[in-house]
Amino acid sequence: MADKNHRAWVEVDPEAVAHNYSIVRRMMPGKGIMPVVKADAYGHGMLSIARRLEQEHPSFFGVANAVEAQHLADAGLTTPPFILGPTPPEEREQIVAGSWGCTVSSIPEAQHFQRIAQGLHCVMSVHLALDTGMGREGFLPGELGEILPQLAAMDALRVDGVMSHFPVADEDEAFTRRQIELFEDCVAEVKRHFPSLRYVHTAASAGLLGFRVPSATLVRPGLMLYGVAPGSVAPPEPLRTTLRLLARVTLVRDLPAGHGVSYGRTFITPQPMRVATIGIGYADGWRRQLGGRGLRICVRGEMCPMLGRVTMDQIMADVSAVPGVQSGDVAELIGPHVPVERVAELAGTIPWDIFTGLGRRLPRTECAMRQVISSSSPFCEGNRF
Ligand SMILES: *Cc1c(COP(=O)(O)O)cnc(C)c1O
Repeated sequence: MADKNHRAWVEVDPEAVAHNYSIVRRMMPGKGIMPVVKADAYGHGMLSIARRLEQEHPSFFGVANAVEAQHLADAGLTTPPFILGPTPPEEREQIVAGSWGCTVSSIPEAQHFQRIAQGLHCVMSVHLALDTGMGREGFLPGELGEILPQLAAMDALRVDGVMSHFPVADEDEAFTRRQIELFEDCVAEVKRHFPSLRYVHTAASAGLLGFRVPSATLVRPGLMLYGVAPGSVAPPEPLRTTLRLLARVTLVRDLPAGHGVSYGRTFITPQPMRVATIGIGYADGWRRQLGGRGLRICVRGEMCPMLGRVTMDQIMADVSAVPGVQSGDVAELIGPHVPVERVAELAGTIPWDIFTGLGRRLPRTECAMRQVISSSSPFCEGNRF
């Protein structure tokens, strides 16, 4: 667990992430996997997750930029990083020098990579990005006829892969089906110019759960590895919880009826209440939007309503129904009792945003989460803390 001086921290279980990875593995026999570890592995800590997943021999690590890729390389990880989005010119030397995976979306980008690779006397492998509906990067399908011969003529560039991305895999099945058909046509066209294409990929978590892409050789799961299945399609086996957000009770007091709690006095005690003050706030990524939404957090195994507004470093909760709560007790704010999906819904956002918004003030520690879930006694009772 965290240093005793920390009031709030994140516990992460890399073994649970590896378990969720193994579910993807079983769903996708014969396909490669690019676990997405961008944004500090969705707030879990990039290096501890990447180190554990490297034992599973992934094809690439999905990252957002060259800084993240360098972080992995510096830590001695040997799985190549793959930079998911378009790359600004300033990052490209480093990408070529590192032989990292990346996409190209335009001829000027491709020409720049070609010049850099020529200068370094190497051949740069790139994945062609296709915009089949996301509107974020890639060539449009109608451009392929013109650009494929141009790319084929660049001798220091090897088009090794084709990728695309689904904008509504968890929302619009008909659109996604049409998008897959379009993608399949594009892949066939690319293969006519680049017959030795090795990597074809388009599915993130929602895509791989809901759809089959016949030409795909690789999938790019992110959120699913972190225990959350987007959309309405359940994974074939239950995902394990990978992260808990915990914070200490700093004070417990009895308030009389009619007393305001927190800024704005948006909550007034309707009767006498035992109120716990807890050491976490919006500066830790515990969203201010959660105030007044009826979210319940877990204290001593009981679900306790959060009261009033979230402040920068502290929140309050009604612990009237929980005997014996005292200063130093640990509350769960995200975890097996308080699913991140619920927190996201009440904050008016998505689990990706809650995970990646967990603050820098929260230390990350590793722990085995399975014992916690399967234990009949609630985790926050006595001995664990
Ligand atoms: C972030 C990202 C992913 C992972 O998405 P999840 O929904 O978290 O599985 C996959 N592909 C691309 C291009 C991404 O940017």
